[in-house]
Amino acid sequence: MELAKLLDRVPIPVKESLEEPSVKINVLLQAYISQLKLEGLSLTSDMVFITQSAGRLMRALFEIVLKQGWAQLAEKALKLCKMVGKRMWSVQTPLRQFAGIPSAILTKLEKKDLAWERYYDLSAQELGELIRAPKLGRTLYKLIHQFPKLNLAAHVLPITRSVLRVELTVTPDFQWEDKVHGYVESFWVIVEDNDGEYILHHEYFLLKKQFIDEDHTLNFTVPICEPIPPQYYIRVVSDRWLGCQTVLPVSFRHLILPEKYPPPTELLDLQPLPVTALRNPAYEALYKDFKHFNPVQTQVFTVLYNTDDNVLVAAPTGSGKTICAEFAILRNHQEGLNSLMRVVYIAPLEALAKERFRDWSKKFGLEGLGMRVVELTGESMTDLKLLDKAQIIISTPDKWDALTRRWRQRKQVQEVSLFIVDELHLIGGQGGPVLEVVVSRMRYNAAHVENKIRMVAFSTSLANAKDLGEWIGATAHGLFNFPPIVRPAPLEIHIQGVDIANFEARMQAMTKPTYTAIVQHAKNGKPALVFVPTRKHVKLTSVDLMTYSSADIRGEEPAFLLHNAKELEPFVEKVNEEMLRATLRHGVGYLHEGLSSLDQQVVMHLFKAGWIQNALSDLEASKCILIEDDIQPLNHGHISAYHYVSYTTIERFSSSLTSKTRMKGLIEIVASASEYDQLPIRPGEEEVLRKLINHQRFSFDNPKCTDPHIKANALLQAYFSRQRVGSNLALDQREVVGLAIRLLHALVDVVATSGWLSPVLLAMEVCQMVTQGMWEKDPVLLQVPHFNRELARRCQDNPGKPVDTVFEIMELDDVARRELLQMSDSQMQDVARFCNRFPNIGVDHRVVGAERLSAENDEDHVYRVRAGDDVYLEVNLERDMEGLPEVGPVNAPRFPKTKEEEYKFSLDVGETMDVDDDNNDDGGRD
Ligand code: ADP
Ligand code: MN
Repeated sequence: MELAKLLDRVPIPVKESLEEPSVKINVLLQAYISQLKLEGLSLTSDMVFITQSAGRLMRALFEIVLKQGWAQLAEKALKLCKMVGKRMWSVQTPLRQFAGIPSAILTKLEKKDLAWERYYDLSAQELGELIRAPKLGRTLYKLIHQFPKLNLAAHVLPITRSVLRVELTVTPDFQWEDKVHGYVESFWVIVEDNDGEYILHHEYFLLKKQFIDEDHTLNFTVPICEPIPPQYYIRVVSDRWLGCQTVLPVSFRHLILPEKYPPPTELLDLQPLPVTALRNPAYEALYKDFKHFNPVQTQVFTVLYNTDDNVLVAAPTGSGKTICAEFAILRNHQEGLNSLMRVVYIAPLEALAKERFRDWSKKFGLEGLGMRVVELTGESMTDLKLLDKAQIIISTPDKWDALTRRWRQRKQVQEVSLFIVDELHLIGGQGGPVLEVVVSRMRYNAAHVENKIRMVAFSTSLANAKDLGEWIGATAHGLFNFPPIVRPAPLEIHIQGVDIANFEARMQAMTKPTYTAIVQHAKNGKPALVFVPTRKHVKLTSVDLMTYSSADIRGEEPAFLLHNAKELEPFVEKVNEEMLRATLRHGVGYLHEGLSSLDQQVVMHLFKAGWIQNALSDLEASKCILIEDDIQPLNHGHISAYHYVSYTTIERFSSSLTSKTRMKGLIEIVASASEYDQLPIRPGEEEVLRKLINHQRFSFDNPKCTDPHIKANALLQAYFSRQRVGSNLALDQREVVGLAIRLLHALVDVVATSGWLSPVLLAMEVCQMVTQGMWEKDPVLLQVPHFNRELARRCQDNPGKPVDTVFEIMELDDVARRELLQMSDSQMQDVARFCNRFPNIGVDHRVVGAERLSAENDEDHVYRVRAGDDVYLEVNLERDMEGLPEVGPVNAPRFPKTKEEEYKFSLDVGETMDVDDDNNDDGGRD
């Protein structure tokens, strides 16, 4: 009876008989959405089925349809979810989703039948008039502008003829109100085909409160096939708000697909080339481990070893390309002592460069063929020296970039005989622009210097080898692009998708399948390598693998441990990290840069030896440095190029510095550098950072701890305070501190352009703070080895003779010094060595060609110059070298790099005197 009454009141007619249970549910569901009042106890209790389950079932429907890729149905299903959630129909005004609007007003608005977008055109007053309630105009206006609205812009780029890359920019355009929006609003990004029939891509997008004022960029790829459709649609729909969606049509009218690629190089069925083809016993001795070169090496041998042509070899990973590079090096070496040998090898990642350095030092170094092999450090002064002495120079792109920006002035850079670029395919990725600039510069360089610079490049198999080959100047027979299929060890790929949006949940969901995959695909103790996104997950996943395997155990020994546990123990005992010791005993090792180098070595050794089956490693992105145009006519451009600091950083320095900048401001400005943009904020690190910054000398109200610049600031300050931070942070700190000197030097030049003395002095002070890891107000004695705050205080309080400076330590007699410092003999020696090396600088100056008015031995220098004339000032710095063979690097144990002694020079214009003698006519001075 009551149900029949309801049936008449629900908006969507139901034809079937009321006997059907589904009809009852249908009616109740509609009544629920319509917020109808129920009469009778039995209906009210049946309604519980709806309130408890309708929402969940709708969500399940939506997710199923979304996965099926049915565009229109997905849209409807999501709408239904929201209708159930909000208990309103989608045809009703979206304003019903706000609390507190009188229902008479809402009904009035719904009768108006005004499209939602049109509300944005109305002012508060017009809104008031619309509903004939002027007082409510303001409220309505406010709410309309709190309704989540997103603006979209998209940029598409075909990657191949069938893959389109989309860069979607989402700009929030509404007022955030905590009471309405909480901390996060969620949206679905859905790409639909031209007919709105299929979903080509979908992802979940979270808009967080703290980023409400920022643009958000999403990158994804969608398929495209020929003939090219006229357009796709990108639809961004709120997960919660009814009536909230933005649709952006993306037109393909002007899309040009890349050309079809030339076919890859065929791997010929050649007789394997014996190692003796090198025709040089010393060279042949390098390849004792095998008799023959592999097929790829055999095919590229002649052009690399017997000609000086530029060569590009693209071949799958594991093809032995390193040895191909060695052919080119040996060719260069063979040409004899008379010809120039300066081989530069560029590896795009720090870790690869290190590995190559270790390997080649052994092979080609002093114990091998007797060449000098060096790895660049990133400090220009040190690197120029290295470059001068070495035959094989190993570098990353940015270090080489920094060194070669001013190659015209640097003879060593012009005198490169062989330039090898490895992993050239990374040119498309992060850090690619630097690689591109470096290679282009060497090509340009090669065309402008007398000696020939041979270019040799390696990469994995490429789609467009011809372009890259032409770019590095490879000849037709110097261009090889072997297809991925020619791998020496065949590769089988299994992909297992995991579809969980939440990062941590997804990572967790992946461990069990990982374990199963190892057990299935790496049977009989075959080695397994697992890569995970962060250091934290390296540990978590290792422990999980260990746990799964011990739960699964069949025999006595842990399944992943492939060697006798007793023999393993001595290695495990050496390991510092407790968790690593535990996992190793179960045959699972892990690696990340936060581990001590000994721990890393043990893991690598045990894995290579086949004692443990698994090794895990993280994929933390290496830092990427912004690269700017080389040719900047402005002074700031010069500063940027000279110090190898991004142009945006220089701009920021220049706009934020003033003549009154103090210590706090200066640290903030340095930390704001774009170079720190890429500093990672790991999941869960926010709170740690908040605590860290709150305990620093300069803290902030309400710090935004997801901001990498705030992190840089906190780490710098903690470094000055010599405060310990956790191992992940310590690594980031090394990076932050390592970069700071370069930034500060650039900053000094920026300030100097404005001619402000006090910030220049301040910046130099901060330079010293960075080098020594202390604050400017700390006792200077903290720079001395084995000194801590307590000892420095004791020296200060030394009865009768306070000791505040390094010179005052030196002046003490031996007995008094021993008593005061209370150090062991070897510590005392460290102190003595430090004191001897401590720079004692004498400064002397004169104005060239001007008459000196003050007496020769007067400390003040007074010269006669004429107002308006140019003046040449000669300044002599003299460093006391007593007992020193050479200056050498600065003693700076806390600073993560070697630091050469450097002095900045600034000129402060003091008082001038007018000297009134017009008849002085020895003009012409300049
Ligand atoms: P790529 O740079 O192409 O990825 P690598 O130069 O790193 O490949 O070589 C992969 C592995 O193959 C190395 O372990 C190397 O020692 C081995 N290797 C290279 N050439 C030969 C060869 N001719 N015979 C046997 N092993 C080889
Ligand atoms: Mn390689």
